[in-house]
Amino acid sequence: MLNHLSHPIFDIVRASAEKLGQPAYVVGGFVRDALLERDCKDIDFVTVGSGIELAQEVAGRLEDASEVNYFKNFGTAQIRQGNWEFEFVGARKESYQRNSRKPIVEEGSLQDDQNRRDFTINALAISLNDVTYGELVDPFNGVQDLNDGILRTPLDPNITFSDDPLRMLRAIRFATQLGFRIEENTYKGITTMSDRLSIISQERIIDEVNKMVLSKQPSIGFKLMFNTRLLHQFFPEMVALQGVEERNGQRHKDNFYHTLQVLDNVAQYSNDLWLRWSAIMHDIAKPNTKDFNETEGWTFHGHEFVGSKMTKRIFRRLKLPLNEKMRYVAKMVLLHLRPIALTKEIVTDSAVRRLIFDAGEDIDDLMLLSKCDITSKNERKVERFLKNLKNVEQKIRDVEERDRIRNFQPPVSGDEIIKLFDIKPSREVGIIKNALKDAVLDGEIKNNREEAINFVLTKGKELGLSAAGSIKN
Ligand code: ATP
Ligand code: MG
Repeated sequence: MLNHLSHPIFDIVRASAEKLGQPAYVVGGFVRDALLERDCKDIDFVTVGSGIELAQEVAGRLEDASEVNYFKNFGTAQIRQGNWEFEFVGARKESYQRNSRKPIVEEGSLQDDQNRRDFTINALAISLNDVTYGELVDPFNGVQDLNDGILRTPLDPNITFSDDPLRMLRAIRFATQLGFRIEENTYKGITTMSDRLSIISQERIIDEVNKMVLSKQPSIGFKLMFNTRLLHQFFPEMVALQGVEERNGQRHKDNFYHTLQVLDNVAQYSNDLWLRWSAIMHDIAKPNTKDFNETEGWTFHGHEFVGSKMTKRIFRRLKLPLNEKMRYVAKMVLLHLRPIALTKEIVTDSAVRRLIFDAGEDIDDLMLLSKCDITSKNERKVERFLKNLKNVEQKIRDVEERDRIRNFQPPVSGDEIIKLFDIKPSREVGIIKNALKDAVLDGEIKNNREEAINFVLTKGKELGLSAAGSIKN
């Protein structure tokens, strides 16, 4: 255990605690991660006494602490040092009342503090006190559970989860991140208490969900959330993807498991949270747009448009950002069928240019999402789709090399059109600009100044404008 205490902070905390005469321990995530040999930059210290006083004493002995924060109301303190973050808290005993997240907090012993933690593997402490320095305090056999890969609440799961229902999601998040199994009783506790998640703020929920989304195989978390009905509490649109309907002997695929497959596929290639969210959202409107007719069978016409619209609403409710990240996901949802659609027709240059124009900088991400969206069990079909997508990719490279559409800037600007015809900013300017863009994308003219100026002059004439000046080639 001692070799985990190589950071100089441990000796400083030991000396500080000794001076104040209050026992101190390293506790929680750091101990867990040290034993799992996972990297961890947050160290939590618990002391039997005042966490703030201990932090003050420690801060006084640190030369290069970049930031010290005291949260008197919570009795906690935080010290930053480079990439490291140290947190100090006095050991406490918490009792909760039903339907309230506000606990009654009292000073307590180390054991009290370990009791209020979420899982046995998160309740481990290492002593920083003289005689017992470096010794593990493990009242719930957390080390055994770490070795066996098991998540188990230290107390009766009904108590642990009703004290803070977020812990149910945390169980699933750790199961997803660490590949651990949730012990049976603990799992039962989640299934019986899942609706209590309703008292938890969406901000805390989405933090845990995003950690699942960012893990190696996010589907683990979503399946567990679905099976325990935690997902039903905050993301009914995703739940609605589940299920298969049959009519006239025709079945559509289960869009929930398909979505999870796409998400896992994307996770293999990209760590980008928002590309991963694009996978989660790409078919979100399928239940709303589902239809059956004799000739086509099952259809989901327009699900990309409706889904793109739903993205904003869902992001707002889930407390995901409403900035360019949301717009990126909405765009990916909107365009997700385009690369595959291209493979179904003769791929014209102009169709490729339109796709590059619409996707812009995100064309590579879109192609990746498209590739990951192929989840058929029919291997021949998969192979054919992949081959077609490869062709489209090659076409994109060729067209892009030639026409530079990706960062399309009109070869003649609106200001220049105004000058050329000596007109005011007006509807005509917009019409000409649009026609110019279409002409370039459709390949009527090349993406260069000379052809563009000629085009603009002709177009202006058609609108009854005459050139008043000239612009440089
Ligand atoms: P990570 O840092 O990967 O999110 P962690 O387990 O370190 O995981 P933190 O939020 O940093 O999580 O919390 C540190 C420790 O505090 C945990 O290991 C656990 O002992 C305790 N803890 C955190 N959140 C809760 C909670 N909701 N209920 C009970 N104990 C908690
Ligand atoms: Mg942590």
